[in-house]
Amino acid sequence: MKKKITLLGSTGSIGDSALKVLDRNRDAFEVVGLSTESNIEKLYLQIKKWKPRAVGIVNPSAYAQFIKSYGSFIKAQKIKLFSGVESLENLAEQKADLILSGVVGGVGIKALLTALKLGRTVALANKESLVMAGELVRQCLKRYGGKILPVDSEHSAMFQCLEGQNGNSIHKIILTASGGPFYRYSGDLSKVTVDYALKHPNWIMGKKITIDSATLMNKGLEKIEAHYLFGVPLKRIEILIHRQSIIHSAVEFEDGSILAQLSHPDMCLPIQYALTYPERKPCPIARLNLARIKQLDFEVPDFKRFPALNLALLAAKSGGTFPAALSASNEIAVYAFLNKRIRFTEIASVVEQVLERHKNTGRTDLESILFADQWARSKAEETIRKFERN
Ligand code: MG
Repeated sequence: MKKKITLLGSTGSIGDSALKVLDRNRDAFEVVGLSTESNIEKLYLQIKKWKPRAVGIVNPSAYAQFIKSYGSFIKAQKIKLFSGVESLENLAEQKADLILSGVVGGVGIKALLTALKLGRTVALANKESLVMAGELVRQCLKRYGGKILPVDSEHSAMFQCLEGQNGNSIHKIILTASGGPFYRYSGDLSKVTVDYALKHPNWIMGKKITIDSATLMNKGLEKIEAHYLFGVPLKRIEILIHRQSIIHSAVEFEDGSILAQLSHPDMCLPIQYALTYPERKPCPIARLNLARIKQLDFEVPDFKRFPALNLALLAAKSGGTFPAALSASNEIAVYAFLNKRIRFTEIASVVEQVLERHKNTGRTDLESILFADQWARSKAEETIRKFERN
């Protein structure tokens, strides 16, 4: 029996890597669902190759264009076609053994909750959903018996370190961070270009997460992600700068033992592990040569130079609707930077100004979270317009 896979965000960076893994293991997997935000040409090629039963297109005008160009093909193939943001939920409802969520941002939240309410297994790369609705996700997992397999490389590392540890209590999680392209940069961060910010030293990833890595917001989001995934208190998750990205994270147990997971930094590995779990299969990434690497370096992060990290930790501590407001305002600010509307350093300023005005209801139900999300998006947009005028 082949494992049936639905890929949310199949035309993005995670989708590309996932399809490469599936291509190498075609006798073990069947793709039953695919989705894109708006890359319809790429989606069409994927449909022809993988023959899914259902597809979704989030962007309405891309959907209209898709119908025009490929509508008769889809009809002839009897493929279910969904549109809009709801298409992600519609796809999550379709039968599958595993749903890989590789979409970017808060758009993935309802699909994640829908899948978990159906008791499904979700390979999660869409960390923003977990950051926004961590409490809710934990409740769903408990109540409906679904499962999350982390795809984020750090969380995949923690997950691997925790395997076979049944109930052994965790003393501390060590969340490693490359520091991104600007960690050693001595110039003026307010003047860095989009192209420069998109040059990550170790990882090839999508644009939003690459900017988040450059501001270190990503590490803050990942701390919240680890907190909810493994139920470890925030104060027991330590962020450690490790420029080489060889140790992807580590777990320290009560007896003082630290287990770590090491590999060449390549997203193919954590994606493949989530897809083939609990099995390990050959993976064509570069092998580590420890003798050549010789040494691994670590240091505590520079919180002053990277205020986004502090903001994330503050929002994490406050809880309630704060993480949702953080993630939503950051998303808007990152795209404003990518579209050259604001400076690099203004990403954190936008988030800060939104959080300063946010009134935390302390509630973690979906309605409150979505309300905070929408509120933060509009306040972020207002703040960006203010920056544009100056
Ligand atoms: Mg990561």
